[in-house]
Amino acid sequence: MTEYVLEGLNEKQELAVTTTEGYIRVVAGAGSGKTKALTNRYAYIVENLGIDPSNILCVTFTNKASTEMKKRVRSLIGSGCDTGLITTYHGFCVRVLREDIFHLHYPKQFIILDEEDQKTILREIYEELGITIRYNSFNNMLKKIASYKMDPAYVRVVTNPNSKFNTSEEMELEKKIMNMYLLKQKKVFGLDFDDLINFTFILFEDFGQVLDKWQTRLHYIQVDEFQDSSLRQFKLINMLSDTNENLFVVGDPDQTIYEWRGARPEYFVNFDKAHPTCQTIVLDQNYRSTPEILDVGNSLIKKNSLRIEKDMFTHNQKGLKVIHYHGKHEEDEIKWVTEKINQLIEEKQAKKSDIAILYRASFLSRFIEQGLIRENIDYTIYGGMKFFQRKEIKDALAYLRLIISGDDLSFLRVVNTPKRNIGKKRIQFIKEKADRENLTYYDTLKKYAGDSLFNSTKALEFLALIEKYKREYAKLTVSELLQKLLLESGYDQYLREDGDQNRIDNLSEFFHSIVTYEQSIGEELLLDEYLQQITLFTDSDKEDKRDSVKLMTIHTAKGLEFKYVFLCGMTDGILPSSRSLEERKVAALEEERRLTYVAITRAEKEMYITESEGLSRRGSKKYPSRFIFEIKQNLVNRIGMLEEEFYQESVRFVEGSNFMLGTGDIPLKESESTMDIGTKVKHPVFGEGIVKEIDVKKNTYYIQFAGMKTTKPINGA
Ligand code: ATP
Ligand code: MG
Repeated sequence: MTEYVLEGLNEKQELAVTTTEGYIRVVAGAGSGKTKALTNRYAYIVENLGIDPSNILCVTFTNKASTEMKKRVRSLIGSGCDTGLITTYHGFCVRVLREDIFHLHYPKQFIILDEEDQKTILREIYEELGITIRYNSFNNMLKKIASYKMDPAYVRVVTNPNSKFNTSEEMELEKKIMNMYLLKQKKVFGLDFDDLINFTFILFEDFGQVLDKWQTRLHYIQVDEFQDSSLRQFKLINMLSDTNENLFVVGDPDQTIYEWRGARPEYFVNFDKAHPTCQTIVLDQNYRSTPEILDVGNSLIKKNSLRIEKDMFTHNQKGLKVIHYHGKHEEDEIKWVTEKINQLIEEKQAKKSDIAILYRASFLSRFIEQGLIRENIDYTIYGGMKFFQRKEIKDALAYLRLIISGDDLSFLRVVNTPKRNIGKKRIQFIKEKADRENLTYYDTLKKYAGDSLFNSTKALEFLALIEKYKREYAKLTVSELLQKLLLESGYDQYLREDGDQNRIDNLSEFFHSIVTYEQSIGEELLLDEYLQQITLFTDSDKEDKRDSVKLMTIHTAKGLEFKYVFLCGMTDGILPSSRSLEERKVAALEEERRLTYVAITRAEKEMYITESEGLSRRGSKKYPSRFIFEIKQNLVNRIGMLEEEFYQESVRFVEGSNFMLGTGDIPLKESESTMDIGTKVKHPVFGEGIVKEIDVKKNTYYIQFAGMKTTKPINGA
């Protein structure tokens, strides 16, 4: 028995770790050690049951989380084993497809298309059809494609070698674009992120032996953040666990923040109904945050009506009250934040990397960055532009992909970068010939490079380079191959002449990441496997190398923790988002409230919420988020000038766009119900009022506030 796997766990965590068989669900609030239990359980199964890691699937929500978990697992069980199945849904699908996609007549070196690749395909289609984005923007069209792909049945059509795609003249344009898109995708054997899940799904549905193999192989399955599973993900996990019936899921319904993207928390909530033998373990001790932070989180999330009540406690040391800073304008807000950061560094010996600045939408990072730059505070943004979607990185990847798959997309990217005098006219020639002769663009160029049309070009040199490395790549490491390709193709020189230092730095960062990756896997890195893995990675997944303040959206911060957290730009219309307010649906507003809860519960020691007056992007006046006022007032320390008049204005604004009030769903605690009808009250936001009615059943006061037409139910605290 390896005791250290259980060391320091509380009783319920220990139960979660040692109950290895059957269906188990762990429900708990933020910071209660769910992920820790999941990690230790993995180690427990390996060490105490002697199960090989290749028989345990452990699904996490982001690459960052899976990298983190691999590290933690390795520290528990040693680094010698293959932890490749500690992965994301997409990572797992790539793994399955590499092994079994041949059943669907696709090669194992299929390529993964990111958003930019998808747009490149659309651009080609638009050109061929002679339409412009005035017809429909690429983003819109991609949304349509994604919604078409909600039903995975199309995979059967796409992968059937005999099926014909109708792209005839008289077809409806949108349908025609869709079919052309599928056709082009197929031609490059490209799978977008939706396809990864859908192909895997169809593979399991239609090929019993494949499903059987994976079901048998996966003795144990664990899923973190299960509350954010979509229908497809839920089905996939259920299929996979059907034979061994060892499925362990952990989650917190209060942290569902992806409903807008198809997450369905009810699968988690009703997990016990789907699996009647399921055992539910509830963790209730928070290890992450001070009692002050925990109280603020709890006080806010209680306002959601669609939730299961949980009681969390902590034995952590008391700390400072959560602070709400109200600035007069953006500069004032960020100035206060940077002063506070400097103070934390000087007075509390905080490292910059202990500090995170979170925000609702990535455009907010602009004013935050400006403030940090002004104060010379190093920072790193996680998220935003995807690292592997930067032009220079895509170019480098395209050179690599051309070696492996020779696909049209990679070809078009680099055939004339650097300039080889293969411009529009010659590309058009290649495209036409390729279509007619059913060849890839690369093979077409190979066939016609001797044609006089290519006399004044460097087509032959280009082909010689690619052919050479097609022969030799297996003998080289990926990093060696990349270095040679960039040097010999002239790309390196082209970047240098271009003189953009940023791009050169990005490319060396990319190079560095390959070397690190090669070292970390300890076995030979295969080029095709690398290319598939890399496409799934984003900026948010990069290693933290520098000591710098971390900037990210709340969505990216999910599952993570930081000693000091600033939640900036907490303006009504941003959080909650104006979209959620315009929808006027309780569910949308509640998701925004959960998002705020996620942000608050990331903090270990200190939590700061800031916002400022001024104009929003839409040109309207900014007011503090209604969520700030929903937090029990005595839990928050207010700093900054929030004048009475502005208060009242905020009230009227919130009131004007409020649809929660009036539904009677703001409950009172019994101990607080000490007011009688006629009692005068003063509310920090709504001002003075008189209790008009008390609904004991609902624990709600109905209060008439001065200057408001209707009576509003409100917490009388
Ligand atoms: P979230 O809902 O935000 O994902 P979580 O429930 O997954 O949170 P963890 O990230 O696993 O929580 O744990 C939160 C913090 O508490 C971590 O720093 C973890 O190491 C620590 N922790 C968890 N359990 C214990 C324990 N029994 N003793 C000491 N520290 C613990
Ligand atoms: Mg977690």
